[in-house]
Formats: sequence, C-alpha cells, structure tokens
Amino acid sequence: MPLYDFKCNSCRKTIEVFQGFYDGTPVCCEDNMVQCVSLWAHTPARWGDSHEYFDVGLGKTIKNAAHKDQVMKEMGVRPVSSSEIADEQQSIYSENKQHEKEVSVFNDALNRTNDVTAAIATAFPHKEMAQE
Ligand SMILES: [Zn+2]
Repeated sequence: MPLYDFKCNSCRKTIEVFQGFYDGTPVCCEDNMVQCVSLWAHTPARWGDSHEYFDVGLGKTIKNAAHKDQVMKEMGVRPVSSSEIADEQQSIYSENKQHEKEVSVFNDALNRTNDVTAAIATAFPHKEMAQE
C-alpha cells in the first residue's frame, strides 16, 4: 500500500498517509491538504525500510536496506552495477551477432558446395568439429 505525502498550505505541515486509510484528502487548518507529488520519489526507500520482503536472489528475508547490505557482506556478494549489466548485454549481443554470421557463412558455403562437412569447416574454422 503506497504512502502519500500531504502538505497544508496554511501551516506548511506535511504528513504521510497510506492510501485507503483516509477517505478523501486529509484536512488541516480547516482546509484540504495538498498532495505532494514531488515527494513520491523518496517513499519507496522509506517504505522498503519498514516492510520485510523475501529476496529471491539472496534467498533470504530482507528487513531493510541496512540488513540487505549486511546479508550481502556475510554472503560475500555485492550488487551488480549497471555497467556490468550493460557489458553482459553487449556480450550476449555480440555472441548472437557472431552466431548469425556463422550461420550465414555456413548457408553460403552449403549452397556453393552442397557439402555439409565443407560448409561446417568454412563456417567454424576455429572450432573443433567432428572429433569422434
Ligand atoms: Zn495546517
């Protein structure tokens, strides 16, 4: 259930409410408070600090951000950086491109020679084929 921040335009007080706990907008200084959309960004972290969840990757129930840091330290793991994810994606992309190229070379060679063994040798010159 998401938290929302509301601000009173008269006294400048801000409060947090769970949507559903209130019917309509909270009232302060005899007027409706204004929902602060700009404060939304900070709520997930705060929210995460007060709600346990099961982390599939770690295989453990995580209580908060500090607990997650501690668990990861104990397990000797660390978060994957976005650059590592980008590198991995680039690597998969390159492998796919390489595979497409090999298939293309293989098909060309097969069309030319009508010889599967020769086509394999042409398309995969560095791979150890037919080692039976
Ligand atoms: Zn007020």
